[in-house]
Amino acid sequence: MKNIAFFCIPAFGHTNPLLPIARELVERGHHVRFYSFDLFKEKIESTKATYISCDRFLSSLTNKQEKKLKNISTTEMTIQSIHITIEMDSFLNEEFKKEKPDLIITDSACFWGKLSAMKYKIPYVVSTTTFAFNQLSSSYMKQSFKEVADIIFGLPKVSKELKKLEQYGYHVKNAISLVSSDNHTDTLVYTSKSFQPFAESFSSHYQFVGPSLFDHYTLDKHHERALIYISMGTIINERLDFYQKCIDCLQDEDVDIIISVGNNVPIEQLHFNKEKVHIYPSVNQLEVLSRANLFITHCGMNSVSESLYMATPMLLCPQTAEQRAVARRTKEIGAGIMLDDDIHSSAMKILHNPQFVSSAMQYRQDFISSGGVKKAVDYIEGAPYKKDEVDLIEELNKYNRKTKLIYWMIIILLIFLLKGKYGLIIGIIAFLCSFPVRKKLQMRKYDKMIKNY
Ligand code: UDP
Repeated sequence: MKNIAFFCIPAFGHTNPLLPIARELVERGHHVRFYSFDLFKEKIESTKATYISCDRFLSSLTNKQEKKLKNISTTEMTIQSIHITIEMDSFLNEEFKKEKPDLIITDSACFWGKLSAMKYKIPYVVSTTTFAFNQLSSSYMKQSFKEVADIIFGLPKVSKELKKLEQYGYHVKNAISLVSSDNHTDTLVYTSKSFQPFAESFSSHYQFVGPSLFDHYTLDKHHERALIYISMGTIINERLDFYQKCIDCLQDEDVDIIISVGNNVPIEQLHFNKEKVHIYPSVNQLEVLSRANLFITHCGMNSVSESLYMATPMLLCPQTAEQRAVARRTKEIGAGIMLDDDIHSSAMKILHNPQFVSSAMQYRQDFISSGGVKKAVDYIEGAPYKKDEVDLIEELNKYNRKTKLIYWMIIILLIFLLKGKYGLIIGIIAFLCSFPVRKKLQMRKYDKMIKNY
């Protein structure tokens, strides 16, 4: 039996999938210590894992920092994660000496879990609650101008903070290496291989286990009135205007509406028909989805997975780059449409077209056959894994370097031969075409490699 330490950031979407896994490990006789935050204490203790409070390592935030975190500023999240890692350093040093964990399970965004596993050379498994992202699958994430600006202007601050980590014995190449997935790390992903973009580019260190859930509700989709469920998740959910707009657009239809608004929205300020519309700070989302005919969602990975698992088609309103990636994939598989301005006609389109339900149903079957919690725990019990296999991403990078070199050699030769005005024009065109041409070549190579391997 193993001593297993769990680490996660203070977020429901990241913690929830770890809970059924912790419970299953405890039931199989392992000793699980779950390092988390008081907001999750009750849920963690209900799994029978030992809860260790880390609240004292959270620094108190200024209003500005809090606002940035609420708006999912990558820079602020990275800086805060580095601070927590440093604050926890001596505590974890003592803990690991005393508890001697055999294995660490760490959320992919939890720096202190990942970095301490590396520092103390403890084998670890990464828990990824989004898609697994590498250079191919991250093409699904389209950053907004604000998000790009946040990353670019935040770079100097982040590099300064990363240097501090060095002093504590944490060796980090750069911020991206801390959060992205590589093909050598044992990793759990809570979706299926067919829903994951570019799934074949991930090595067998990746286990696509489908949603990790406690409860298994039977579907109950036939009611007198269709049921619409609306939630913007647990982080950026203070959207009073949006909820009111949904209510105004939909409540006159022959539907029931359930809205989960979170703890900070004043429900009394919303105007709605109490017979048809039911608003709560929080609901048992899986249970509601088992009855819902349409989910208006912010496209958090957990919400979309739960919706597909419950065969509920979706109206997609993503707010962050990661959610846009999930929305794009959901639209691609035919289980939802993007919300344009007309909430009413988009919702009716889904409710009146059974094709959306059948696409969602197909993924429900796919998720169920992905193995879920049992498969995740089987994998954890066998970790760490040593595998000798071709790394498609490394191969692709070698090819990319080669094509880049050849591309520019040909262009330089042409500029040299044509000289003058034509040489300059060729140079400018080559520069502008460089990225799309090389991307196209990369995709052709990728398709070829997939066929061969
Ligand atoms: N959730 C819930 N009740 C609610 C709203 C959300 O249990 O009323 C859960 C939901 O089932 C999901 C998680 O909170 O597991 C939200 O995670 P997601 O990745 O969808 O979004 P985030 O909140 O991280 O943006």
